[in-house]
Amino acid sequence: MNDTLKMFINGEWTEAESGNTREVLNPATGKTIAVVAEGDERDAKRAIAAAKKAFYENGWWDTKPHERARLLYAVADHMEAMAEELAEADTRNNGKPLREARFDVSDAVGCFRYYAGLANKPHGQTYEVADPMQAMVVREPIGVCGQIVPWNYPLLMAAWKLAPALAAGNTAVFKPSEITPLSAIKLFDIFEQAGFPAGVVNLVLGAGPAVGHELAANDDVDKIAFTGGTKTGRSIMQAATGNLKKISLELGGKSPNIVFADADFETAVDYALFGIFANQGQVCSAGSRLLLEESIHDRFVERLAERAAKIKVGDGMKPETEMGPLISRQHMQKVLDYIQIGLDEGATLLCGGNQMTEGDLANGNFVAPTVFIDTRPDMRIVQEEIFGPVLVVQKFKDEADAIRLANDSVYGLAGAVFTGDGAKAQRVIRKLRAGITWINCYHPTYNEAPWGGYKQSGIGRELGTFGFDEYTEVKQINVNLNVEPTGWFAG
Ligand code: NAD
Repeated sequence: MNDTLKMFINGEWTEAESGNTREVLNPATGKTIAVVAEGDERDAKRAIAAAKKAFYENGWWDTKPHERARLLYAVADHMEAMAEELAEADTRNNGKPLREARFDVSDAVGCFRYYAGLANKPHGQTYEVADPMQAMVVREPIGVCGQIVPWNYPLLMAAWKLAPALAAGNTAVFKPSEITPLSAIKLFDIFEQAGFPAGVVNLVLGAGPAVGHELAANDDVDKIAFTGGTKTGRSIMQAATGNLKKISLELGGKSPNIVFADADFETAVDYALFGIFANQGQVCSAGSRLLLEESIHDRFVERLAERAAKIKVGDGMKPETEMGPLISRQHMQKVLDYIQIGLDEGATLLCGGNQMTEGDLANGNFVAPTVFIDTRPDMRIVQEEIFGPVLVVQKFKDEADAIRLANDSVYGLAGAVFTGDGAKAQRVIRKLRAGITWINCYHPTYNEAPWGGYKQSGIGRELGTFGFDEYTEVKQINVNLNVEPTGWFAG
């Protein structure tokens, strides 16, 4: 705790050039749990230069896929060996209950293994074109990748970014959120142990407008991959125009969870709670709008309130805790402000709506599980991403009404439908303008399947083969099978 935790640039642990540091807090207790280097543009530039050299001069781009796979499998093995330490780092730093952090670690390990496996699988195509030519398509790494992630899934977001980028043969400069750097620092310890060559993977700590902006704007960065708020995503896109770098964005959401009267009632209630209160509602794909068919509305919300009131809120390190604190005082205030906005707009508070301050909770950023009913589609609490444990309930008359309300959003990240009618489930899900959808469940996510949004929820996809392809350039190679002059010019 007395030692400043450092950044990892060009294979070495390093202080910020400015010598600046930042205190890292535990959101459950408000206490400082670490001091870390606070980098700025200069550190980002050092890391970009190292990544450029590793890619273009030291030949990382030409490493054989099986060698990249070997290194990534080693990362996964090391992570597994220290799984509990990684999970506790995320719980202490982010606040999420330990059982959720353990899931994240297991998912992150799986992500490294998935992309290790994908590194040496077939990626190209060949096809016959006009005689005597044959064409083939190969995928090649893009180059230096800047990667920026938020605080809600610190380790998992690092895995989603770094594993595919490295598997595809890119070098990376990674920036975690300045308030949750601890598990990423441990991950880079693992990269060092696994034996990645200097400059291939770099960790720069620091604030968005300094480090993050440099990654987005720097002409030596060939691709920028960002996960975070839609507003920040827009500024990254603007900063990236200088060298027209490749760009992928995973942004916010306000996702509809649609429950028809013929759904299995208790399953739908259960997933409605899980959809919004997992990770304290700080999930981009959270089911933050619950759309209920009129005939079940009253019974459903009664059961929802009964169960929400029983959720055990507390320090994520305690085994009984089911929901933890919000990430920061500032973010808690934003969520509480939204609750006030909802009341001012005329919505009815079904449950929660307050900061929790009993006993030890007073030192942390705890907000009670909150549900609003009697909402209108034009309310700010229905349209805007709150990113906290606040559910808004909307009523619908029939299938067409449900689809209309569900798509009434600038976002298009996720959505779900609960019904006992298989054909109706398919009809509705196909009409949702969203990239991640579920039938009769909410939230399960797999490394094999593409993750990303429609509309203002983003550009591109992570995970699966789609996520690998986002880190590649596509080259066509045309092969002449009949090597003789064309005779096109007579002389
Ligand atoms: P944020 O946009 O404030 O910050 C995200 C990251 O961007 C942080 O590392 C931050 O330091 C950096 N950043 C901030 N300003 C920057 C700038 N001007 N230039 C470059 N980088 C900058 O988001 P947040 O509050 O950390 O996270 C919450 C948001 O993330 C929510 O909107 C949520 O929906 C979104 N999110 C999306 C996904 C997804 O997969 N679609 C996943 C998780 C979170």
